[in-house]
Amino acid sequence: MSIRVLPDVLISQIAAGEVVERPAAALKEILENSLDAGATDIQVDLEQGGIKRIRVADNGSGIARDELALALTRHATSKIASLADLEQVASLGFRGEALASIAAIARVQLGSRGTDAEHAWEVRIEGGRLSEPAPAARAAGTTIDIQDLFFNTPARRKFLKAEATEYAHCAETVRRLALANPQVAFTLSHNGRVQLRLNADSAAARVRQVMGEAFERNTIAVDAAAGALRVSGWVIRPGAATASRDSQHVFVNGRYVRDKLIVHALKEAYRDVLHHQLNPAYCLFISLPPDAVDVNVHPAKTEIRFRDSRGVHQFLFHAVERLLSAPVTGCAVPEAA
Ligand code: ADP
Ligand code: MG
Repeated sequence: MSIRVLPDVLISQIAAGEVVERPAAALKEILENSLDAGATDIQVDLEQGGIKRIRVADNGSGIARDELALALTRHATSKIASLADLEQVASLGFRGEALASIAAIARVQLGSRGTDAEHAWEVRIEGGRLSEPAPAARAAGTTIDIQDLFFNTPARRKFLKAEATEYAHCAETVRRLALANPQVAFTLSHNGRVQLRLNADSAAARVRQVMGEAFERNTIAVDAAAGALRVSGWVIRPGAATASRDSQHVFVNGRYVRDKLIVHALKEAYRDVLHHQLNPAYCLFISLPPDAVDVNVHPAKTEIRFRDSRGVHQFLFHAVERLLSAPVTGCAVPEAA
């Protein structure tokens, strides 16, 4: 075969392999867009574990009529314009490829009304074919309706698990983003039934709602800083730990991340007080200057790289270890060295 440039839809379908591995991944991207748009109320409706339908409605800043098509275009974003922006990025999104990827592998309807628009507009896209914007009715904000995920990529569809499993991943995604954004109200429905309703609240109240009262009763508050590096949140009392790793939530500058280094630092901090078969539960919010962390490591953006990974490891280890070895009173940790 001779060399050729691939058609746009195919490029997006290939990219979708990394960004949208399952319904929960599409949902994460959509929710991050709502959060980036400053939404304070987000409604999620799923059908059949998100496979049949993922619909998210927000009250964020919306998209202008003439930008609806752009929003669905690959590498089109309103969030960065230069390499300097990328290095300081504070928004959850910045790659400009989530909507285009989703639109390449599902039937999508995007409706939106900007804050000072007279009414809403909506477009549909299927297999790369985009409709003209049509007038629609809705309050300010955006609704995206994603149907029949992977309808045109059968190989990917085969990897979907049972509806209940896909739903569980979606619910986990909502819970995680809800933990990091207590100021935002979330509603999650599945097959027409409300599963989760979270009102805007304090961080502590949100943790109680999402992680459960048992976690809250058995936790120690963390609050430590070293220069611009800061950690706050909650870790479990050693006596209440279980074998499960499901309740390990780490957010870096508001972004949920999976990071081996952080998991390791925490495991080490518990080493002397926890049987090796048990795992600590925690919900930790780490903040540091945006240029001290690289979030552009993988398209799914759950992997990050710290500029000073050893420093971060030591800081976390000491902040938590010190709490665990102190008499168990549940008081906040003093400033870390
Ligand atoms: P990114 O988030 O990386 O910019 P996306 O493909 O996820 O890329 O979204 C493309 C663009 O569409 C965003 O930059 C934003 O301008 C717009 N957009 C998407 N979703 C929303 C939303 N819910 N509210 C307002 N604007 C949105
Ligand atoms: Mg995005």
